Amino acid sequence: MKTKQPLLTDAFGRAHQYLRISLTERCNLRCSYCMPLEGVQLAPKSHLMTHEEIFTIAKTFVENGVTKIRLTGGEPLIRKDFDRILNQLATLPVALSLTTNGVNVDQYIPLLKKVGMTSINISLDTLKAQRFKEITHRDYFDRVYKNMQLLLEAGLKVKVNVVLMQGVNDDEILDFIRLTEKLPYTIRFIEFMPFDGNRWHLEKMVASEKIMETITSHYGEDRVVKLKDAPNDTSKNHQIKGAAGRFALITTVTNPFCDSCNRIRLTANGHIKNCLFSQTENDLLSLLRSGKSIEPIIRKAVLGKLAVRGGMDDLEKLKNPDLHRNNRSMITIGG
Ligand code: SAM
Ligand code: SF4
Repeated sequence: MKTKQPLLTDAFGRAHQYLRISLTERCNLRCSYCMPLEGVQLAPKSHLMTHEEIFTIAKTFVENGVTKIRLTGGEPLIRKDFDRILNQLATLPVALSLTTNGVNVDQYIPLLKKVGMTSINISLDTLKAQRFKEITHRDYFDRVYKNMQLLLEAGLKVKVNVVLMQGVNDDEILDFIRLTEKLPYTIRFIEFMPFDGNRWHLEKMVASEKIMETITSHYGEDRVVKLKDAPNDTSKNHQIKGAAGRFALITTVTNPFCDSCNRIRLTANGHIKNCLFSQTENDLLSLLRSGKSIEPIIRKAVLGKLAVRGGMDDLEKLKNPDLHRNNRSMITIGG
């Protein structure tokens, strides 16, 4: 007898154990690489998942093999019922994590600890207050930097997501690495990726190879140690010998890691995106609201996942702006 394929295993044999849920399309920052200057068309509130719907959908995924859920957005902490959502999800047998811009995270530290989170991802692209204002169009550098320290003091691991852009903040590579010498942050340099409306050009992206060159030519190759990466890890982890923290490279553009991808995404309006770059999505929320089983649409989304970067399997396709327009802006995907 033919055995049934597990719901979350795709046509390439990749089992999806990691669900990233976007809680909102809104944000209290306006990062130029994420939020288009002209803004985005927001879904009406009635089209967004309620906390009950988030729980119901998450439960189905967990019952089918998801072991990790990350909450993201937009900015997840501006959602007024964030504590309710988190407390509900904490009743599921799943590891919870969070990606936030850090502006409001201090208010949630006791809750994050209570639900057993051990590590938080904070996005911070510069260590200069004026530059922070230019990149995010808001004046919150001191607040975010202080909140990162508060998280460390509370015993949480802090991973800092840094998107480097040529001529914007690429002169800060060594400043970020110096930070790891004294403090136990993991600095994650993410290659600038193309999405609808973010004015991406290959020339604006700082390739991981160049970042490594900058670091090794300053410290010397023997002081830069490659660390072991966890299975399905998207980041290549390193450390300066003797440093308190680490650094990592996320090479989505120059060297995609799709063959070991175990991620699936749920947008704030309840659509499944089987890849960050997928040009199609499946409306799970409408099906849920109609009272039908959501498993068939999850299966359809998983089986529709393409081998590499939503079909943009080479750099030429990635450079084609027509293909980005078929995708959403990052702020409405949930990174
Ligand atoms: N607001 C939260 C934050 O900033 O951490 C969560 C959502 S944000 C979309 C998630 C992550 O996506 C952030 O670390 C951000 O730096 C990253 N991101 C957004 N646009 C990106 C792009 N074009 N290329 C690479 N990373 C991007
Ligand atoms: Fe907001 Fe995060 Fe996007 Fe910046 S990266 S605009 S903080 S969602």
